[in-house]
Amino acid sequence: MFKRYQQKSPIAESYHEIDYGDLKLHYKLVRCDRKSYEVQIRPGGKVVIRAPHQLPMTVIRDFLVQREEWIKNKYHEQSKIRAGKETDLKTIELEKRYRKAAMDYIPKRVAYYAGIMDVSYGKISIRDAKTRWGSCSSSGNLSFSWRLMLAPFSVLDYVVVHELCHRVHMNHSKEFWYLVEYYIPDYKIKRKWLKENGKHLHVLAIEEGQE
Ligand SMILES: [Zn+2]
Repeated sequence: MFKRYQQKSPIAESYHEIDYGDLKLHYKLVRCDRKSYEVQIRPGGKVVIRAPHQLPMTVIRDFLVQREEWIKNKYHEQSKIRAGKETDLKTIELEKRYRKAAMDYIPKRVAYYAGIMDVSYGKISIRDAKTRWGSCSSSGNLSFSWRLMLAPFSVLDYVVVHELCHRVHMNHSKEFWYLVEYYIPDYKIKRKWLKENGKHLHVLAIEEGQE
């Protein structure tokens, strides 16, 4: 029952490197109370070896030499993960901002055009639909992709008008397009812009140092 109060040897950390020729691998060696040793290659390519206090350095070095291929592969694999994760975090942050901006801006444009067009609408939601920029349900609920905030505002306006025109015509008939044209005379240019550039709105490129 005294076991849990037993004093442990202090943990000792030290830093080393092994030269694989094409890769100088830095690793942290953690000496602690344990019976076996293990190597951990974490996301970002951080290498940590945990080993018993008494384990000779030569054993660790031999191990690193023997497992060179595996370690190098794992290292390259894990290094990539971090790059991805950091970008993801920035992208998520940026997406949040655009969503917030969209939630503020798009309803204002909807209200503006609905007033001019004299149509009613239901709820507005901001989404991230992969295939469409906006939608209009039969009950008048509208949804828009937050990514429209990355497009020119005149293109965003076109999408708003397009969806509001569905409050009159629930289809893409000639009459529908006449109505769109009435409010956005150059709507064809906006459509073309979306067709040509839309895919780029699905890629948030973040320049280094932009934040
Ligand atoms: Zn439509």
